[in-house]
Amino acid sequence: MTDCIFCSIIAGEIPSTRVYEDDTCVAFLDINPVVPGHTLVVPKVHSPSFIETESEAVSGLGPVLQRVASACVKGIGAQGCTISTNNGAAAGQTVLHVHWHIIPRRTGDGLKLWPQKTYAQGEQEKVAASIRAAF
Ligand code: 5GP
Ligand code: ZN
Repeated sequence: MTDCIFCSIIAGEIPSTRVYEDDTCVAFLDINPVVPGHTLVVPKVHSPSFIETESEAVSGLGPVLQRVASACVKGIGAQGCTISTNNGAAAGQTVLHVHWHIIPRRTGDGLKLWPQKTYAQGEQEKVAASIRAAF
Protein backbone atom coordinates (compact mmCIF):
# COMPACT_ATOMS: atom_id res chain seq x y z
CA MET A 1 0.00 0.00 0.00
CA THR A 2 1.40 3.39 -1.04
CA ASP A 3 0.96 6.53 1.07
CA CYS A 4 -0.56 8.34 -1.93
CA ILE A 5 -4.35 8.15 -1.76
CA PHE A 6 -4.79 8.47 -5.53
CA CYS A 7 -2.20 5.73 -6.24
CA SER A 8 -4.19 3.54 -3.82
CA ILE A 9 -7.42 4.38 -5.67
CA ILE A 10 -5.77 3.63 -9.04
CA ALA A 11 -4.53 0.27 -7.67
CA GLY A 12 -8.04 -0.54 -6.44
CA GLU A 13 -6.93 -0.67 -2.79
CA ILE A 14 -9.35 2.14 -1.91
CA PRO A 15 -12.81 2.24 -3.49
CA SER A 16 -13.82 5.02 -5.85
CA THR A 17 -16.77 5.68 -8.13
CA ARG A 18 -15.12 5.50 -11.54
CA VAL A 19 -16.64 7.04 -14.61
CA TYR A 20 -13.78 6.44 -17.11
CA GLU A 21 -10.51 4.55 -17.38
CA ASP A 22 -7.90 3.98 -20.08
CA ASP A 23 -4.22 2.96 -20.16
CA THR A 24 -3.00 6.33 -18.94
CA CYS A 25 -5.60 7.71 -16.55
CA VAL A 26 -8.71 7.14 -14.47
CA ALA A 27 -11.61 9.48 -13.76
CA PHE A 28 -13.71 9.14 -10.62
CA LEU A 29 -16.16 11.24 -8.63
CA ASP A 30 -14.68 13.62 -6.07
CA ILE A 31 -15.67 12.39 -2.60
CA ASN A 32 -16.58 15.95 -1.51
CA PRO A 33 -18.05 17.48 -4.66
CA VAL A 34 -18.56 21.18 -5.31
CA VAL A 35 -21.63 19.94 -7.19
CA PRO A 36 -22.80 16.38 -7.99
CA GLY A 37 -20.79 15.08 -10.95
CA HIS A 38 -17.58 16.87 -9.86
CA THR A 39 -15.02 14.49 -11.36
CA LEU A 40 -11.28 14.06 -10.96
CA VAL A 41 -9.14 13.02 -13.94
CA VAL A 42 -6.00 11.38 -12.60
CA PRO A 43 -2.97 10.14 -14.60
CA LYS A 44 -1.96 6.62 -13.53
CA VAL A 45 1.72 7.51 -13.19
CA HIS A 46 2.42 9.24 -9.87
CA SER A 47 3.71 12.77 -10.04
CA PRO A 48 3.13 15.43 -7.37
CA SER A 49 1.72 18.16 -9.61
CA PHE A 50 1.18 19.18 -13.23
CA ILE A 51 4.23 21.45 -13.28
CA GLU A 52 6.41 18.61 -11.96
CA THR A 53 5.06 16.00 -14.40
CA GLU A 54 7.19 14.84 -17.36
CA SER A 55 5.55 16.47 -20.35
CA GLU A 56 5.37 13.10 -22.19
CA ALA A 57 3.25 11.71 -19.34
CA VAL A 58 0.52 14.28 -19.96
CA SER A 59 0.92 14.87 -23.69
CA GLY A 60 -2.12 12.73 -24.51
CA LEU A 61 -4.30 14.14 -21.77
CA GLY A 62 -6.01 16.97 -23.66
CA PRO A 63 -8.40 14.71 -25.63
CA VAL A 64 -9.16 12.66 -22.47
CA LEU A 65 -10.03 15.79 -20.49
CA GLN A 66 -12.22 16.90 -23.36
CA ARG A 67 -14.11 13.57 -23.49
CA VAL A 68 -14.58 13.27 -19.72
CA ALA A 69 -15.67 16.92 -19.43
CA SER A 70 -18.13 16.48 -22.26
CA ALA A 71 -19.60 13.32 -20.67
CA CYS A 72 -19.88 15.04 -17.27
CA VAL A 73 -21.76 17.98 -18.75
CA LYS A 74 -24.06 15.84 -20.93
CA GLY A 75 -24.52 13.09 -18.37
CA ILE A 76 -25.90 15.30 -15.65
CA GLY A 77 -27.60 17.83 -17.92
CA ALA A 78 -25.31 20.76 -17.03
CA GLN A 79 -24.68 23.70 -19.36
CA GLY A 80 -20.90 23.95 -18.97
CA CYS A 81 -18.01 23.04 -16.72
CA THR A 82 -14.95 24.47 -15.05
CA ILE A 83 -11.73 22.50 -15.56
CA SER A 84 -8.93 23.28 -13.14
CA THR A 85 -5.80 21.90 -11.53
CA ASN A 86 -4.21 23.14 -8.33
CA ASN A 87 -0.40 23.13 -8.40
CA GLY A 88 1.16 23.02 -4.96
CA ALA A 89 -0.12 23.63 -1.44
CA ALA A 90 -0.05 27.40 -2.00
CA ALA A 91 -2.64 26.89 -4.73
CA GLY A 92 -4.81 24.74 -2.49
CA GLN A 93 -3.59 21.34 -3.69
CA THR A 94 -4.34 18.82 -0.95
CA VAL A 95 -3.60 15.54 -2.75
CA LEU A 96 -0.07 15.57 -4.12
CA HIS A 97 -0.79 13.38 -7.16
CA VAL A 98 -1.46 15.37 -10.31
CA HIS A 99 -5.17 15.62 -11.16
CA TRP A 100 -7.74 17.81 -12.87
CA HIS A 101 -11.09 18.84 -11.46
CA ILE A 102 -14.07 18.85 -13.81
CA ILE A 103 -16.86 20.79 -12.13
CA PRO A 104 -20.18 20.78 -13.98
CA ARG A 105 -21.75 24.24 -14.17
CA ARG A 106 -25.30 25.42 -14.62
CA THR A 107 -26.46 28.84 -15.72
CA GLY A 108 -26.93 31.00 -12.63
CA ASP A 109 -25.39 28.44 -10.23
CA GLY A 110 -23.75 31.35 -8.40
CA LEU A 111 -20.33 29.67 -8.09
CA LYS A 112 -17.59 32.30 -8.15
CA LEU A 113 -14.28 30.49 -8.12
CA TRP A 114 -11.93 33.41 -7.57
CA PRO A 115 -12.02 37.16 -7.00
CA GLN A 116 -10.44 39.35 -9.71
CA LYS A 117 -8.35 42.50 -9.51
CA THR A 118 -7.15 45.15 -11.97
CA TYR A 119 -3.56 46.08 -12.96
CA ALA A 120 -1.94 49.37 -12.01
CA GLN A 121 -0.61 51.53 -14.87
CA GLY A 122 2.45 49.78 -16.44
CA GLU A 123 2.17 46.71 -14.22
CA GLN A 124 0.93 44.33 -16.94
CA GLU A 125 4.05 44.82 -19.08
CA LYS A 126 6.40 44.24 -16.09
CA VAL A 127 4.58 41.08 -15.06
CA ALA A 128 4.52 39.75 -18.63
CA ALA A 129 8.27 40.49 -19.02
CA SER A 130 9.10 38.40 -15.93
CA ILE A 131 7.04 35.51 -17.22
CA ARG A 132 8.61 35.67 -20.70
CA ALA A 133 12.07 35.72 -19.10
CA ALA A 134 11.33 32.53 -17.15
CA PHE A 135 10.85 30.24 -20.21
P1 5GP B 1 -6.92 19.22 -4.54
O1 5GP B 1 -7.33 19.94 -3.30
O2 5GP B 1 -5.63 18.48 -4.32
O3 5GP B 1 -6.92 20.05 -5.79
O4 5GP B 1 -8.06 18.14 -4.79
C1 5GP B 1 -8.11 16.93 -4.15
C2 5GP B 1 -9.53 16.43 -4.24
O5 5GP B 1 -9.52 15.05 -3.92
C3 5GP B 1 -10.46 17.12 -3.24
O6 5GP B 1 -11.49 17.81 -3.94
C4 5GP B 1 -10.99 15.97 -2.38
O7 5GP B 1 -12.35 16.09 -2.09
C5 5GP B 1 -10.70 14.75 -3.24
N1 5GP B 1 -10.41 13.55 -2.47
C6 5GP B 1 -9.58 13.44 -1.40
N2 5GP B 1 -9.55 12.18 -0.95
C7 5GP B 1 -10.38 11.47 -1.76
C8 5GP B 1 -10.77 10.09 -1.79
O8 5GP B 1 -10.35 9.26 -0.99
N3 5GP B 1 -11.63 9.72 -2.77
C9 5GP B 1 -12.12 10.62 -3.69
N4 5GP B 1 -12.99 10.14 -4.59
N5 5GP B 1 -11.79 11.91 -3.68
C10 5GP B 1 -10.92 12.34 -2.73
ZN1 ZN C 1 0.11 8.91 -6.39
